[in-house]
Formats: sequence, structure tokens, C-alpha cells
Amino acid sequence: MRRIQHFIDGQHQAGTSGRSSDVYDPATGQIQAQVDLASVAEVHEAVSAAHKASEEWSESSLTQRTQIMFRFRELLSDRTDELARVISSEHGKVVSDAAGEVARGLENVEFACGIAHHLKGEINEQVSAGIEVYSLRQPLGVVAGITPFNFPAMVPAWMFATAIACGNSFICKPSERDPSASMLIAEWFIEAGLPPGVFSVVNGDKEAVDALIDHEDVAAISFVGSTPIASYVYERATSAGKRVQALGGAKNHMLVLPDADIQMAADAAVSAAYGSAGERCMAVSALVAVGSAADELVEAISQRIPDVKVGVGTEAGAEMGPLITAEHRDRVAGYVERAQQAGAVAVVDGGNADLPTDGFFYGPTLLDEVTADMECYQDEIFGPVLSVLRVETFQEAMDLINANPFGNGTAIFTRDGGAARQFQHEVQVGMVGINVPIPVPVAYHSFGGWKASLFGDTHMYGPEGVRFYTRAKAITARWPDPASSQIDLGFPQNS
Ligand code: NAD
Repeated sequence: MRRIQHFIDGQHQAGTSGRSSDVYDPATGQIQAQVDLASVAEVHEAVSAAHKASEEWSESSLTQRTQIMFRFRELLSDRTDELARVISSEHGKVVSDAAGEVARGLENVEFACGIAHHLKGEINEQVSAGIEVYSLRQPLGVVAGITPFNFPAMVPAWMFATAIACGNSFICKPSERDPSASMLIAEWFIEAGLPPGVFSVVNGDKEAVDALIDHEDVAAISFVGSTPIASYVYERATSAGKRVQALGGAKNHMLVLPDADIQMAADAAVSAAYGSAGERCMAVSALVAVGSAADELVEAISQRIPDVKVGVGTEAGAEMGPLITAEHRDRVAGYVERAQQAGAVAVVDGGNADLPTDGFFYGPTLLDEVTADMECYQDEIFGPVLSVLRVETFQEAMDLINANPFGNGTAIFTRDGGAARQFQHEVQVGMVGINVPIPVPVAYHSFGGWKASLFGDTHMYGPEGVRFYTRAKAITARWPDPASSQIDLGFPQNS
């Protein structure tokens, strides 16, 4: 059985805790590897190596950092297919989708290649006679990232690219369900010339996460995962005095007005609801159809579902793979069953689809007549289940979306510029699409939801990532003529 270890101080290191976790191939249902789960002592070892490395790395020149980042960018770009196949084998998503994830992660690396521009401070000359004030941004030291299973390459890249380019050492604690992408990234960073210890991987579960949070030499925690764990990580890490950004779960609404191009909206809904089997934090899971849009949309979506090719991720032409585990598939099936008991209409039930019998497959599902009080609407199902909520007016749709506790992503489909403008202005959601179903911001903006989708003050990557991974320092300087020196006990004033 293949064993996935840790990557500490520039090399693979076998776990010593005696604990491990199974890594499945979700397309076959078979265990393909076992990943070591770190003990507290192993986490401490990784932090100590990262801390030592950060002493030199924080002093490295911007030229050195960007040259390494450019080399890493080339490796990642050239090896996209290799990484995509590794992701597909552990996560289950189809290879083309995994390659798309790598491409979006690559954007963050490209952003980091230009870090010198983002670290420019500001200066005011002559704030008072002969006095300048200027600001610098300096690295924090060791920072850690705890990442979810659904984007095993892109979400770590949201964090490590900026963190490392800013001069920090970064420790990644990937999901124990698909840890291999992070291990490859660690190897490629060494090949790109990154000093050992600047990028490490500790595999593990809650024990490793708690040990990272509690360690006094870890200055900041970035987390992406489900809302209950995001909230827990935020509470624990802030209590330990750390800087934290903890991104949580989602319930993303797509609002369709009657004036929209319904066929285009149906294409977008199918893509955004069933891509990656709905295991995306920005997947559309609630379709809010206003007035006459509903009947036409339900019809158009149900016509498209039989054409979605569900299959093994490496199969040519496959568009949607399996879910991550058997338990998760059964959980999704349970939601669909209980939704029908509660009065929802299963226009298409993916549980009845003709699917590969091995592996953790569940077909695209369309639930109509869903209401806001139903469990299938209130919970994040995180599977290929699209719920249609019918409302009469634009305002009713806005009220529904704004009452939802999550605020990650949302989209409006319309030809009415005024309605779109009102939507963008009033909706209580962090990332908004206008005729764009999955509005993940490009790497030079920042990613983050509102409400229960994000705990903390800063969004991830882009300009906010730079602020998160650096501390500001303001310097007030003068170079006076010693002859003018005198004692003045008054509070300094500018004149
Ligand atoms: P998860 O919360 O179960 O796990 C995330 C990470 O936390 C993993 O590394 C896991 O090992 C660790 N973890 C799990 N239980 C823990 C515990 N009790 N204590 C400490 N650490 C723990 O999430 P997941 O199932 O891997 O990922 C899916 C979730 O992530 C969904 O809710 C999805 O919406 C969310 N997500 C959000 C975003 C976003 O940007 N907001 C992006 C991707 C995924």
C-alpha cells in the first residue's frame, strides 16, 4: 500500500505517530494509499524547521523570491496534466476540471511573481520640517494553511503563493482525503530553488490542526473548509492571539428574472450546479426563479441533465465524477429523499441514474417546489443537487437571498441593467456574478464571502492576501543638524 508521508525541511518524512487514514479512489471505491497523520510532536518539528528557514527567507531579496516563483510557475504550468491526474485520482473530479483548478491556482503564483509591486510602501516627504514618514510591510514568520478536500491544489495556492512571496515560511495541512497534490507542490518548490523548510506539508487531522493553531511560533492561520470547523478554527486561533482568515461553507443562489435568456441561464445553472459534482464552495445550489422564468427553466434544465456525462475522471468525455466518499454520497441521497418527503418535487433524482456501480457516484438532481423552510435549502448539501425556489417578485428573491445565513457567492441572470445594478448593490454576499454563474475573482482581486462564509477581517489572496501575510511598520525619520538639537518635553506636533 502506497504511503503518503509528510514533507518537512525539504524532504519526505515518514510519520511516527502510528496513526494513518485511508485515501480512496472515489471512482472505484478502492483504497489507493494511506496518509500519515501527524502527532503534536511532528507538527512541532515542522514548525521548528519552518521557523529556522524563515529567518533567512525573510531576509531574501525580492529578486530571489520572484525568480524562484517564476521557476515554480513554469514547473506548475508544464506539469498541469500530471497534477490534474493526481487530483482526479484522489478527489474524483474529471481531469479537465482538475486542470482548470490548477490553472486558477497558477494565477495566484503569477500574482506572486509580481510581489515587488504589492510590497511597495508609501512615503510622505516633509510631514514637518525635515521629517519624512514612510511605511513598510514585513513578513510575519511562520504561517499555516489548513485546506479542504474539494480544491487540493487551488486552495493551497490561494495561500502559499502570496505567503511565501511576502517572505514567510508556509506550512500546509491539506485534507487527509486528497493530500498528494500538496506533496507534489512541495517537491516542485524544492526543484524551483525554494530553500528547505519554506514550504512544508504536515498531513493530519484535528490533532495536527490544533497543534498548528496552538504553537506560539505560528503567527497566522488561513483556513478553508466547512462553516462549523471554520468557526472553531477562528475562535481557537484568535484566542491564541493569531491573525486568522477562516473561510466557511456556502449556499449560493442564482437569481433568474423573466427577461433573462432562459436557455443561456439553463446552461449556466447546469454547469454551476453539477460541475465537480457540486463539490465547489461556489457551486450554485439554489435557483431562485422569478415569475414566469420558473417553468421554462425547470424544463430547460431537466432536458439538459441526461446529456451530462457522469463517469470516471480520467475517461475521455467525462464531465462529472463521483463524490468524495461513500458516506458523503449516502448523505446526499438522504437529503434528496427527505426533501421529497417534505414536499419538494424531484424532477430528476440522481439516485435513479444509470451510473458506474463501483465508486461513489450520484447523478445530477433537480428538486422543484423547494421552500425556504426545507432542510435541503437550509443546509449546504455539497453534492450535485439543484433546488428551485419559485418566487413572484425580484424583491421577494432579494429578501430570500439576504435572509440566508451564508454569503459566499451569488449570481443574477437578466437583461435588465437596473435590476442587476440594484442586485449588486443590495445583496448581502461577498462575490457577485452578473450573468456569470461562478464569480470567483481573478488572483489580483481577493476572494471571500460574507456572514457564515467567512470568519475574520481579510479576504484571501490578491491585495488582501498581501495585507494578511505582512505587518505594517510606519517610520518617522529626520536627519537634523546636531547644532539645532534641544530638549522639548511637549508632545511632538507638526508644524
Ligand atoms: P472540512 O471543514 O471537513 O475540512 C477542512 C479542513 O479542516 C481539513 O484540512 C480537515 O482535516 C480539517 N478538519 C476537519 N475537521 C476538523 C476538526 N474537528 N478540527 C480541526 N480541523 C478539522 O471541509 P471539507 O469537507 O474538506 O471541505 C468542504 C467544505 O469546505 C464545504 O463546506 C465547502 O463549502 C468549504 N469550502 C469553502 C470554500 C470557501 O472559499 N469559502 C472553498 C472551498 C471549500
